[in-house]
Amino acid sequence: MRTIVAGNWKMNKDRAEALALVSKLVGWSEELEGDVEVVIAPPFPFLEMAVQCTRGTRIKVAAQNCHAVAQGAYTGEVSVLMLKSLGVTHCIVGHSERRQYFGETDTQVAEKMKTLLFHGLTPIYCCGEVLSERESGKFFHVVEEQLREALGGLSEEELAGCIVAYEPVWAIGTGRTASAEQAQEMHAFIRAYLSERGAPEVPILYGGSCKPDNAASLFACADVNGGLIGGAALDAGQFTELVHIAHRVKQDA
Ligand code: PEP
Repeated sequence: MRTIVAGNWKMNKDRAEALALVSKLVGWSEELEGDVEVVIAPPFPFLEMAVQCTRGTRIKVAAQNCHAVAQGAYTGEVSVLMLKSLGVTHCIVGHSERRQYFGETDTQVAEKMKTLLFHGLTPIYCCGEVLSERESGKFFHVVEEQLREALGGLSEEELAGCIVAYEPVWAIGTGRTASAEQAQEMHAFIRAYLSERGAPEVPILYGGSCKPDNAASLFACADVNGGLIGGAALDAGQFTELVHIAHRVKQDA
């Protein structure tokens, strides 16, 4: 199984700060052991710089969003073709902040994934329940619906080209993380869905207040293939430490 640590910078950093962060990561990536895949998702204006700085290293660059249509009259939007022309290889889709603040639906996410896959980019599809759904015990049902709507129209081959991130919304940016048991049971549930669809090898990342002090137990779970990291990805030391932890834990497993 592949192991991936991806960092979502969200709407943070100015150009100088972004350059400093990428430069540190590039410097330290040379010392990284093992084959953990490393992905960073800076804001749109810094993608080109990030691709140039990381060229020839193990670090891949993701966008945080894209439009479903390849090109056209969609003022303010960014297309998959534009991302591809920059050398961007991955794109986060369906992040809970896009669902919450921009009304993004799984139907729209499904269209974005189709376009990304058609043009050879890897979607990092985010799913996860909100706090009330966790507390009312509906979380498996909610995630199952999300998976069916967003991934249901993909062929087996397309599905195999995706990454899934389970991000319980109540754990994102809250400092409250899922326990290893909660993460593993949901990841196993997602794995069962992917296996049924003929794509058991799709990496499933955990996201939600994942930091160096809680990552080892989460990454040690059998069906957790690494993490999608928010806050801790803004600090080169913490992010690199998370990559080291992922390598160590999976090597020991
Ligand atoms: C995220 O937004 O994808 C995320 C996991 O954020 P944080 O690590 O800050 O909870």
